Amino acid sequence: MKNLWAKKDADIFFNQVRRLGIARQFADCVYASRLLGRETQLVQHGGGNTSVKLLAKTFDETHIDAMFVKASGYNLEQITAEGFVGVNQSVLDKLKTHTNMSDEFLINALGQSRLSFSSPNPSVETLVHSFIPARYVFHTHPVAILALTNQKNGSELIQKATGGKTIVIPYVMSGFPLALQISRSLKHNKDNNTIVVLKHGVFTFGDTAQDAYDSMIRVVTNSEKFIRSTRKKLKTNPRKPSFKLENLAPVLRGALISSSATEQRYILSFRNSPVIKNFLGFGNLSRLVKCGPVTPDHAIWTKPKALFLPSNCNSIEIVRAVKNYKRDYERYFEKNNRRYSGKKVMRDSLPRVIFVDGLGVFGVGESLEKAHIVSELAETFAAVALKSESLGFYAPASLRDIFDIEYWGPETAKLAEIKNSPLSGHVVVITGGGSGIGAATATRFKEAGAEVVIMDSDRKTTSALADKLGAMYLSTDVTDKNSLRLAFDKVIQEYGGLDIVISNAGAAWEGEIGTVPEKILRQSFEINFFAHQSVSQAAVEILKKQNLIGKVGGVILFNLSKQAINPGRNFGPYGLPKAATMFLLKQYALDHGKDGIRVAGVNADRIRSGLLTDKLIAKRANARGLSNLDYVTGNLLGKEVLAEDVAKAFLDLALSKSTTGAVMTVDGGNIEASLR
Ligand SMILES: [Zn+2]
Repeated sequence: MKNLWAKKDADIFFNQVRRLGIARQFADCVYASRLLGRETQLVQHGGGNTSVKLLAKTFDETHIDAMFVKASGYNLEQITAEGFVGVNQSVLDKLKTHTNMSDEFLINALGQSRLSFSSPNPSVETLVHSFIPARYVFHTHPVAILALTNQKNGSELIQKATGGKTIVIPYVMSGFPLALQISRSLKHNKDNNTIVVLKHGVFTFGDTAQDAYDSMIRVVTNSEKFIRSTRKKLKTNPRKPSFKLENLAPVLRGALISSSATEQRYILSFRNSPVIKNFLGFGNLSRLVKCGPVTPDHAIWTKPKALFLPSNCNSIEIVRAVKNYKRDYERYFEKNNRRYSGKKVMRDSLPRVIFVDGLGVFGVGESLEKAHIVSELAETFAAVALKSESLGFYAPASLRDIFDIEYWGPETAKLAEIKNSPLSGHVVVITGGGSGIGAATATRFKEAGAEVVIMDSDRKTTSALADKLGAMYLSTDVTDKNSLRLAFDKVIQEYGGLDIVISNAGAAWEGEIGTVPEKILRQSFEINFFAHQSVSQAAVEILKKQNLIGKVGGVILFNLSKQAINPGRNFGPYGLPKAATMFLLKQYALDHGKDGIRVAGVNADRIRSGLLTDKLIAKRANARGLSNLDYVTGNLLGKEVLAEDVAKAFLDLALSKSTTGAVMTVDGGNIEASLR
């Protein structure tokens, strides 16, 4: 492993942060943390933690011994000084005299040790950092060390790899037990600066950040070299996939959602890197996926076991496999919860990591971000398990030890902090989402927690909006079936399925109906009617796959227009296809209610947008003999209706679970255009 420390870079980093009042010693800790976090062979998402011990000033200007330790849930790769929590070392020192400690006691002690009550929770390994006397302490979960220590003879292998220069301690529960064990082992090994915890990871420390960093790179490099020199060649025989991802993912997603005890939807993050392909080509998969994660820390994301699906399973077998997984998880929970007198509360029992033979792996999460974390950890699992098997047998911590971490208070607190929104885990596609009503709708749905995909032909404005929102942008021509198919395939590849489609793209044409050229009418029908039909057909195909076993419905929403009901003079080319689309809505509601698909639309009027520009407003106002202001406020409420009002209507319709075949009017009130 390459040592990335560069004095010049550390100096530059310090010069950048010194104006914020950050001391050199602190800046070096942040710099080292980022170097560690950058290396995926050392740190997986959100994992690892670092600290530095410094003098700090209290509110009354007295100096105290403090430690700045990574806050829980922060990523080392992007960390800044704000990602560290200051804690009072003298408070934590007092805990050294204890012989055991309850979760509640530990959480309280850590909370009260903070120098500022507004700071986030310190890392769950804060006590370990505090009990190690060195100024800098770094902790990671390196692939090479896990491959060596997830073995029956892990201690022997580590000593061989590092020439006997490492303190090795057996796996022990994180938090106080680990801190105590490490503190004891250091009493007899004062000169050592590397501690490997079997089946968990490594701590290195030193008086300078560079010393602690160098020790980390050294122990990992030695482990990597040892693995290269001693491993036997593994036979892997990657198989050809018998599924297309675009066909399998919605079925699998539907099976998970329909098996959930709540109405939670899930995102599926797919990977098929060379590591995953090699893993899938390896013979002992059904044993490996049941063994457990590479370090118990990963269990809160991945669950103890992965689900493995053979390459030729059909949808009924997929549903059965999910059911069996759930039953197995419930047994694991009940068995281990007895040790806690039944006090723990079970999380959902669905799988989080799903390997599909020949195809790849899915990480399952309540958001795209969480699903990505899971699939990244699944890839680490595949890499470590393969390396372990090339040395002997992959043998991680026991399910009992994994349960203790999976249901450990400070760990579950990490999950509890993430609040799920009403549309978390939902995938929403918005066509014409780059500006006006579409952009306002994309923003609304993102705020409601959905994963948003914006399909639009205007790359410049839409990609900027997508970046701002954290949405996906797909350059799409809704009047081109091929472009639409590719776009919907991309949605499945990225998210695993689809829940809500807002068919919004449209364009306005004018012309007196008795004289308008046919070409204009046909152009308008192309986008204002046929595109809605093509988008809906593409959506129905995915939604039906997801709903194979029922209970997993979807929503299609159309942006209609007041013109569909109440025609404006010379606006026939726009109103006619919109009227047809309103009927299309009814037809979809009628034909696909049985598939759990709800269909509704919004009738909006006089919304300023890319379609109804100020210029067009002036023209339409003139056609009705009104001023511009009177035109946009000419409704029963006497106020201008905004794109945000329409966006809210779309959201309300998406959340109205018993509504289909409905049209909601958003026009400030216009009796002539109101529906009967
Ligand atoms: Zn750890």
